[in-house]
Amino acid sequence: MRLLARAFIACTLAAAGAAEMDAQAANAPPPTPETAKAFVDEAEKTLLELWINQSRADWVKSTYITEDTEILSAHAADKSITAGVRYAKQATRFDKLALPDETARKLKLLKLSLTLAAPSDPAESAELTRIAAAMEGAYGKGKYCPTRDRCLDLEDITKIMATSRDAKELLDVWAGWHAIGGPIKKDFVRYVELANKGARELGFKDTGAMWRSKYDMTPEAFAAELDRLWEQVRPLYVSLHAYVRWKLREKYGDAVPANGPIPAHLLGNMWAQTWDNVYPLVAPKDADPGFDLTQILKSRKTDPLQMVRYGEGFFSSLGFDPLPKTFWERSMFTKPKDREVVCHASAWDVDFVDDLRIKMCIDITAEDFTTIHHELGHNYYQRAYDRQPVLFRDSANDGFHEAVGDTIALSVTPEYLVRLGLLDKAPETSKDIGLLLGKALEKVAFLPFGLLIDQYRWKVFSGEITPADYNKAWWELRRKYQGVAPSVPRGEDGFDPAAKYHVSANVPYTRYFLADILQFQFHRALAKTAGCSGPLNRCSIYGNKDAGRKLEQMLAMGCSKPWPDALEAITGQRQMDATAIRDYFAPLQKWLDEQNKGKPVGW
Ligand SMILES: [Zn+2]
Repeated sequence: MRLLARAFIACTLAAAGAAEMDAQAANAPPPTPETAKAFVDEAEKTLLELWINQSRADWVKSTYITEDTEILSAHAADKSITAGVRYAKQATRFDKLALPDETARKLKLLKLSLTLAAPSDPAESAELTRIAAAMEGAYGKGKYCPTRDRCLDLEDITKIMATSRDAKELLDVWAGWHAIGGPIKKDFVRYVELANKGARELGFKDTGAMWRSKYDMTPEAFAAELDRLWEQVRPLYVSLHAYVRWKLREKYGDAVPANGPIPAHLLGNMWAQTWDNVYPLVAPKDADPGFDLTQILKSRKTDPLQMVRYGEGFFSSLGFDPLPKTFWERSMFTKPKDREVVCHASAWDVDFVDDLRIKMCIDITAEDFTTIHHELGHNYYQRAYDRQPVLFRDSANDGFHEAVGDTIALSVTPEYLVRLGLLDKAPETSKDIGLLLGKALEKVAFLPFGLLIDQYRWKVFSGEITPADYNKAWWELRRKYQGVAPSVPRGEDGFDPAAKYHVSANVPYTRYFLADILQFQFHRALAKTAGCSGPLNRCSIYGNKDAGRKLEQMLAMGCSKPWPDALEAITGQRQMDATAIRDYFAPLQKWLDEQNKGKPVGW
């Protein structure tokens, strides 16, 4: 993941000081191209300063958690959120003007930075602020207490979901966690009403339309794009679903139907969003790739710093400049012994120029080896676009940032390890099914989930789904897209969508679906540029300066141009294309078809 330094983008609530803003608007100079340019310049200068302050406060908090650092960081966040909201609202003053492209785009980015727009009525605005905080708080405090003196938080439950193979225990904790949703429903209904009111005041049809407007096309066209991408990739998902269902049926018997949806609690994850935790249950017999990177790294006594040097070396081999000296001085690579820190890996650019850092608690494992490559992908993206004007220092759309990190991670192949001298010889490609299946359980299984969270919310915001059917409609979509179903009845007294963080916390979700699609499209294009003709899962762009140049071209654009321009710079295509994921998993698709022969497919 990446630090959302522009935090107001992730969690903004346009609630602050409506009255104060009206007063400012009354005194504001008349809208002209000159005043628009002056407004944008001022916004960039102020926001940059606030973002840097916020990054610093956040860095200290994340690497030294105390009551005080938490408060300081919350203060800094508040300040940039308030300013972001103010600029977003004020930007609408220039709506009717014909402006140069650059100024027009900056104004548009300011306006679209909100994910939640509060109504201008102060009482309603305050109510929405309170409700939004209450919903996120209720989720954060959520617990399941199987007995009076034993309570499980989400971390405990996640472990059980991942490792338990006891269907009864799994269903018990699954239902226990989902019970946190019911009490959130009343607030959620009101949140939808108020958020829509605010969105309409900004000129959007509803909050869902506001979210869909961030993609350089009409909300309708964007929704149609997502449908098209899903249709491209659906056959692969359906094959994977059929195979996994069969294997789970072998394990759990009639609890798993032969040809219906898979019970939602048996896939190793609370939301059945990734299935890699059930890999041991579905692994093919001769799946062992014949090497274990974790063991290799450990036996060579690799230390955390060397792990990061491998990552830097990858980018240097593509022609990127080495990381700055301050990266090595200021990053956090290992878990400190003397204080609390946030270990979750993240990538930072604290001064929005060249103060790059990563924050990780590195273990010497294959997983962290790949994660380092992913995080550095964010860092090199940040450095490349930090030559742009302030408002363009972000990824082309919100799917691109995660996609870049993951694209680099896709190049961590056996051949790459051979070139680093970590492996003598790459295994035969006939051994790839295990590796591909593992990756598909993570990346292919995620696609329908990544899609449906916002399909659901768009319908809720538009009124197509009404409160009387909130739970019913949720499970209809989960069945339609994912082919999963609950094993215990879910009535309207419950509210299962709220048992997912992003729903309770008002965080749009489509970016994860886009990132999942885009990373394979980037990888396929760069592999082609690098002249790789073998199977895509064996292509690494390591050492290829042509691929590096192409990547750099796209990264350096930031969000200065509509995202199809950025996509074209790296892939030559202006449309997102999910056939790349089909190409990548082609050997697995063939293998799945053989396994599924004579067995039911679909639900
Ligand atoms: Zn990331």
